[in-house]
Amino acid sequence: MIPLDDAQAEVLASCHPKDPVTVDVAEALGRVLVEPVVSPEPVPPFPNTAMDGYAVRAADVADAPARLKIIGTLAAGHAADTTIGPGQALRIMTGAPFPPGADAIAIVETTRVEDGEVVVLAPAKAGEHVRAAGEDIQAGQEVFPAGELLTPGHLGVLCSVGCKRVSVVPAPVVGVLSTGDELIDGGGALQPGQIRDSNRLTLISLLKRDGFVPVDLGIARDVEQEIEDALKGGVARCDAVMTSGGVSMGDFDYVKAVLDRIGQMHWMQVAIRPAKPFAFGLVAGRPVFGLPGNPVSSMVSYEVLARPGLRRMAGFAEVFRIPITGVVDDEGWRGARDGRTSFVRVRARFGDDGRLMVTSTGGQGSHQLHAMALANALAVTPPDVTVTQGDALPVLLLSA
Ligand code: AMP
Ligand code: MG
Repeated sequence: MIPLDDAQAEVLASCHPKDPVTVDVAEALGRVLVEPVVSPEPVPPFPNTAMDGYAVRAADVADAPARLKIIGTLAAGHAADTTIGPGQALRIMTGAPFPPGADAIAIVETTRVEDGEVVVLAPAKAGEHVRAAGEDIQAGQEVFPAGELLTPGHLGVLCSVGCKRVSVVPAPVVGVLSTGDELIDGGGALQPGQIRDSNRLTLISLLKRDGFVPVDLGIARDVEQEIEDALKGGVARCDAVMTSGGVSMGDFDYVKAVLDRIGQMHWMQVAIRPAKPFAFGLVAGRPVFGLPGNPVSSMVSYEVLARPGLRRMAGFAEVFRIPITGVVDDEGWRGARDGRTSFVRVRARFGDDGRLMVTSTGGQGSHQLHAMALANALAVTPPDVTVTQGDALPVLLLSA
């Protein structure tokens, strides 16, 4: 067996960021920038009011209450072409440009209208409630460096500075192939020995969740030619391929035989439970992840081995989940006795005291997908360790 770290290092050594592409900002969510973005313009683009009220001269209202003549109304979206003179006020709405001549905003809450004039009831400080041009972003400022992950807020900033297209690392396109004579797709009666393919949709969905682009390569029977055709088709169309099944020690584990013939593969026994068997290598220069067939194993293998490699291909600097400390909140469990690190399927929730509390979600067999589905985290349990209520251990949060 090899340590998980070594298997991860091997994957990362062969997964490289894809060549950059230029995309419309509307297509850039979840992508990583490859060039810094410099703003060509200031945000806000002009000084404007942060409050509804009256643009006034602070000196006129210093001895409030003060009565001023209303010379008009300015809404957001309109130019400020009236100069405010002494004794004058301009009714003004949030976001409207701050007019020349004025230096303060009398907020509407401290005013009253009487006989067509405004009575300002409290002094207004010069500059208060006025947003200066460039107060958020200055013209020429680098708003985001290369390597930044584009979130919804980032896309908003790009819109606000007039940036229409950005250079990003595209999402890896990943083919997903199920293998096994026993698998059928979808509903309908099961014939003797058959089971329903669950890995494919699960893996496709994990890829979608992580911002990658899945391609469904279907099910290949345990027939070498069928597996070979599917794999060759997959690497021709995709940046990487994930298979499930056929990589352990069985007589009909032909995925192994085919990959050995058409690629450069490393067959590993990784010191983790579940997901010990794992294959990784290149076929036609494309990374191929040979995940185990057991449904929980394929998911765990994806989380700790395939996902980091694919994140590297997508340009992420940080490819691993950061473990956080969780506290066992049930009777606990035993780590594996054979030197493997166990990834125990748990439900994690923050307790009233802010600690992350974890409880097992049920049967921990590698075929027991139900407990994996109910889990939102994996509790990393070292070999030979027994944990009981109140013990702390590292937890990988898979979803909030
Ligand atoms: P294998 O690695 O091919 O020996 O498969 C290990 C176990 O996982 C067997 O019980 C398979 O029936 C099961 N299995 C393999 N592929 C799938 C799949 N796509 N969906 C559900 N179970 C699977
Ligand atoms: Mg099989």
